[in-house]
This record gives sequence, C-alpha cells and structure tokens, in this order.
Amino acid sequence: MPKIMDKKIVRRFEEIVGPENLDMSPEGAVTHAYDATRLHHRPDLILYPRTTQNVSQILALCNRHEIPVCPRGAGSGFAGGSVPIRGGVALVMTRMNEIREIQTEDLLAVVQPGVVNGAFQGRVEELGLFYPPDPGSMAFSTLGGNVATGAGGLRSLKYGVTRDYVLGLEAVLADGRIIKTGVRTLKSVVGYDLTRLLIGSEGTLAVVTEMTLKLIPKPEMRRAAFVTFRTAADAGRTASRIIASRIIPSTLEFMDSACMLAVEDHLHLNLAARDHAYLLIEVDGSPEETEREIRKIEGLCRACCAREVQVAQDRKERERLWQARRTISQAINRMGLQKVNEDIAVPRSRIPEILAFLSRLAETSNLKILTFGHAGDGNLHVNILVEPKDLPKAHDAVKELFTEVLRLDGTLSAEHGIGLAKSPYLAMEVSPGSLELMRQIKKTFDPKGILNPGKIFAETP
Ligand SMILES: Cc1cc2nc3c(=O)[nH]c(=O)nc-3n(C[C@H](O)[C@H](O)[C@H](O)COP(=O)(O)OP(=O)(O)OC[C@H]3O[C@@H](n4cnc5c(N)ncnc54)[C@H](O)[C@@H]3O)c2cc1C
Repeated sequence: MPKIMDKKIVRRFEEIVGPENLDMSPEGAVTHAYDATRLHHRPDLILYPRTTQNVSQILALCNRHEIPVCPRGAGSGFAGGSVPIRGGVALVMTRMNEIREIQTEDLLAVVQPGVVNGAFQGRVEELGLFYPPDPGSMAFSTLGGNVATGAGGLRSLKYGVTRDYVLGLEAVLADGRIIKTGVRTLKSVVGYDLTRLLIGSEGTLAVVTEMTLKLIPKPEMRRAAFVTFRTAADAGRTASRIIASRIIPSTLEFMDSACMLAVEDHLHLNLAARDHAYLLIEVDGSPEETEREIRKIEGLCRACCAREVQVAQDRKERERLWQARRTISQAINRMGLQKVNEDIAVPRSRIPEILAFLSRLAETSNLKILTFGHAGDGNLHVNILVEPKDLPKAHDAVKELFTEVLRLDGTLSAEHGIGLAKSPYLAMEVSPGSLELMRQIKKTFDPKGILNPGKIFAETP
C-alpha cells in the first residue's frame, strides 16, 4: 500500500475538495481520532467532501491506491465505528449538510448526510410534520451517522427506528460508483432491498451521500410523567404492565438509582432521592387521548407499587424531566472512570429477569454497573465503570451479560452497532452461515476492503 502521505496523492485530494476542505494538521488528527468510546487512532488525513462527486472521486482514488477510508458524521458513536483504526482518510460528512427538499404532500424530505438530526426535526416541526427517530444524541449526531448505525431513540417504542423512516438513499461504492436505492413512495418491491442493507452497515459497504426520509404529521400534544420505585424489579414489572394494558407510550425510559444520583450531582434537578428505580413515560396524540392515557398510566403505576408519580403540568416541567434523561451519559462520564458501555435488548417481557441478573452481576463481580435505557422496547444501556486496571474484569462481566441476553432471546446491540467495540462478540449471536454471507456481501461491495476496515468483523476473535 502506498504511504498516504505520498505528496502526489495528497495533491490530488486537494484538487478534488479544495485546500479549505483538507486537513493534515496534528490537531485535526487528534480531534478525529476518537468517538464517544475511548477507543482512538489517528487518521493520516481529513477530508470534508462538499458534493457526491467529491466523494466519488475520493473513493475511486483511495480504491486505486488501497487507502483506508473511515466515513464520519459527528463522531458520537458508541461502538468505535468512526475511529480510523487503520489510519488513512477520515471522510467527514458534516459539510454536506443541506436539507434539499421537504415535500408536504408526499410527506417526505430529501437531505444530505451531514444535517444534524435535531436541526432537521426543528425544521419539519415548523411545518406541522414529524420525524420521530430521536437518539439521545439528536442535538449533535448527523442523519448520515443515524442511517449508517441504524440509530434508535427514545420514541422507538411507538414510532420505530431510523430504518422505518428511510425510503431511499444515494450512496457511493468503494470504487467510486454512485448508486441510488429505494423510492419516493411508501411501497415498492422491485428487486432486493439495498436501502435496508445499507442502513446499519456502519460505513463498511458504501458512503451515504443523500437520504429520502419519510415524515408523518406532528402529534398535537405530549404529556410526560416521572415515576419512582423502591426496586428495579417494580419498575420493570410496571413497564411490562403498561404495554400489556394496550397503551403504547411514545417514551418509556428506565433509569436506576446510580444514574439518577449522577444526574443529580451534575444538574441538581431535585428528582432523585432514596428510590432505586425511575421511569420517564411520555404519551402523545390528541389532547383527549393524552389526558386519558396519562391518567390510566398514573393509576397503573400506583397499583404497581410506585412511590411517587409526578405528571408534568406544563412545558417547563416536562423539559426538566427530559433534561434528566438526556443528561445521563454526560453525568456518567463526569464520574471519571473508564466506561464499558453496552446496548443490549431483550424481549420486553424479560426486562425484570435481565434487571435481576444485572444486580446479581454487580454483586458477584463487585463492579459498579449503571443501567438506563429504553425499557419500552427492551433496550437497556448497561454501563460498567472501572479503573483502567480493572478493564479485563469488566470484559469478563460483558461476556457473562451477553450469554444471559442471548439465553433470554435478546440481542447484543439494539442501536449502537458493532463497530470495533463489539466485533469480538459478533459470532456469539450471528450463526456461522449468516456470518459467512455477511463477509461475502462485504467483499462484493468492497473487494479491496478499503471502506472502514477493521469494523464489524473482528480479525482476531
Ligand atoms: C449522549 C449520547 C446519546 C446517544 N443516544 C443514542 C440513542 O438514543 N440511540 C442511538 O441509536 N444512538 C445513540 N448514541 C450513539 C450515536 O449518537 C449514534 O450512533 C449516532 O447515530 C451516530 O451519529 P454520528 O453522526 O455521530 O456518526 P459517527 O459516530 O460519526 O459514525 C457512526 C458510524 O456511521 C458511519 N458513518 C457516518 N456517516 C456516514 C455516511 N454518511 N455514510 C456511511 N457511513 C457513515 C461511521 O463510519 C461509523 O461507523 C448516543 C451517543 C451519545 C454520545
């Protein structure tokens, strides 16, 4: 492989994107070396394409010279997906950030990958429309990153995940060919579904350069409640009971006491006291519907041993409850320990079992384990906090956790993806036949292996 620093190649990159969109500075390398994990490796060069043509020319050149390319959005991933582990080019998509079209009759939008999720949500909501996928990182993560990771969010329970809102894509293959997948209609069964294959492919199959996204009408009203429980098991049972009562809240989030204490320590919101588990519940719809549902939920929570149910009375109170939930990751990071962050999901009827397992695991391994997440869809973020010297112990606990999750018919990653962090565990869940097929798909899309090498498939199990 030629050295990336080869002056002729750098000059060619500069001709493609212009000098203002190329960065070889040490500061640039450091700031593009990591994501929200603590994994890191510096790229040799950072490129900010402005157009699909730029991306096509960059990939064709990299493919010819076998230079690794690591696509990157905001770098907020929790799996090491945008860490350029083999060096090469960090292909940062944030300058392709145009909302090209919002179609109010067909209820769709066409956007470039660098548009930030929250900014997009704001724009469509001004038009009375709604784009439901809302990862906790929506204030800064890009729609391209959301598509590449198949991001979920806090409203997945009622509205589904990113995958459910992508109608079509424009993407660039490893050799520079530009492809279009999908349609502008709600239905289509023409050939294989390449759109869905690319969603969640973590930049290993193609670089996404444009997305056609489905929109829906914005709900008229939202009502939120914050409920405290003496035990995690009570909270888990209540979550299952709410769904079983045929109410599908838009949000049903679980937080354990350690998470809430970290938030209190950070923001002093006066929400956490001596309880052990918390649920943030939100319903949306018409004013009558939301009032009926929030009252029914309040009754169910009380019947399930809730200690306290606070229903937000106005927008300000609702914001306070949401602020607590959205700040958990940040609050945990402030604790200054190394974080091993897992993203498991189990069928929601098995939430009480996995919560009970987690408290046993914390006891037997003597590790600090903080759990929060999307209880409504069975997706829990399990954070193991350790001093760096105890990392091997944390990894042993992760293996135990994954074994239990699979026993409960769950999955190792519900929304963060495999990237680097979870690649050693892929074969625990994916059967040998499926794994082989996945490797063949990768080879078909990217025969020279230049696109995000080292991700998803672990070389050394
Ligand atoms: C505080 C916090 C809360 C979070 N909450 C959630 C949550 O609720 N739900 C959730 O799912 N995730 C969550 N995340 C994780 C993360 O924000 C998501 O995975 C998000 O989708 C990543 O977007 P990004 O723009 O930061 O992408 P990056 O992290 O830059 O990249 C992620 C992956 O996508 C690839 N990629 C990026 N852009 C492209 C492109 N245009 N074409 C091809 N590949 C590309 C990268 O190579 C990488 O593999 C959270 C993260 C943080 C820090």
